[in-house]
Amino acid sequence: MRFTEMDKKQTKVQVVVRVRPPLDPVDTICANALSHSVEIFNHRNIKETIKYDFAAVYNSESTQQMIYNDAVKPLLLQSIQGQNISIFAYGPTGAGKTHTMLGSPSDPGIITRVINGLFQSIEADSRLQSTQEWNYSVSFSYLEIYNEKVHDLLEPKNSDLPIREDGDKNIFVPGLTDKTINNFDEFKALFVPASNNRTTAATKLNDRSSRSHSILLLKVKKTGLRPPHREFHGKIYLIDLAGSEDNRRTGNKGIRLKESGAINKSLFVLGEVVDAINNGLPRIPYRNSKLTRLLQDSIGGSCHSVMITNIAPEQKYYYDTYCTLNFASKSKKIVNNTCTKETSRLQGLKRSVSESHKEISTVSQP
Ligand code: ADP
Ligand code: MG
Repeated sequence: MRFTEMDKKQTKVQVVVRVRPPLDPVDTICANALSHSVEIFNHRNIKETIKYDFAAVYNSESTQQMIYNDAVKPLLLQSIQGQNISIFAYGPTGAGKTHTMLGSPSDPGIITRVINGLFQSIEADSRLQSTQEWNYSVSFSYLEIYNEKVHDLLEPKNSDLPIREDGDKNIFVPGLTDKTINNFDEFKALFVPASNNRTTAATKLNDRSSRSHSILLLKVKKTGLRPPHREFHGKIYLIDLAGSEDNRRTGNKGIRLKESGAINKSLFVLGEVVDAINNGLPRIPYRNSKLTRLLQDSIGGSCHSVMITNIAPEQKYYYDTYCTLNFASKSKKIVNNTCTKETSRLQGLKRSVSESHKEISTVSQP
């Protein structure tokens, strides 16, 4: 059984922020990362700054290694002890979600580091135990949720798969491919072509990748070799969420409108689920979207979850940044900057304010 008396206490979802480095040398910077908070100007009053607090804030100098070591690595041992973990990247398209989760061959992200780290943790765990006591196995599935439908990326013919719950309240997807791996190279040999499946779909459907939730599921099983043959089953979800930008601004029609509705709904429900967990509410609305239903046994309860909120620092992202920070932080304060020292920054703000007003008035049109 996964939920014991001790587990009834909800483990909160850790919400951290990563501000990526500026990529546009001419655009004004509008987000300022401090050690446990992020500041942006208030578009309603240029004399004010809005300050949002977080468990941790990573700035443009934070490396992939640093984020992994700090926010993710300490959780891996828990999965070997049969606990579930979910790590997800939230934020608008262009803010660094895929960089954080996947990265590049020269600067790998969380996925590569978790898989290598998991095999290392298993080695360490087996050394701690008395010899020949346990058997370990790791397998993975790779899926996406697009338009509220679950698709198997390892076997693309498996589309629109159901999500079910067993008698022990474990969530599973019948028919989803599950591949056993013994090391990182075996993972890579299967994962890279599956990612290409996704990229092909992306070009056909014009950037589907930012409109679907990409989900890597790692299953860790530890089995006692002697009676009573105890078994620990742990799951690790690594999720690159769909872009959180407000799709109403892009004038979406037809299929795009349907996509936007599905994205907005699932991210909205995810926000409600995170709030309900973090406020200790008795009812958590997992069933209101496919994404949260899938995560039901891996977020909340005794599970360990980290939401990495990615934001872009440039002025052109101001409105998305503002909405993303409001979504991610329930703790914000308005700071009055009556003694703003840098005139160049103030000029930047003035220009920014008129632009963001324009943007916001576009959004509020029916
Ligand atoms: P998203 O997946 O949220 O749409 P990406 O991860 O594709 O965003 O990032 C957008 C661009 O910014 C990419 O070119 C990516 O390489 C770059 N980028 C994002 N985060 C960083 C970072 N921390 N350091 C350097 N480049 C980054
Ligand atoms: Mg992406």
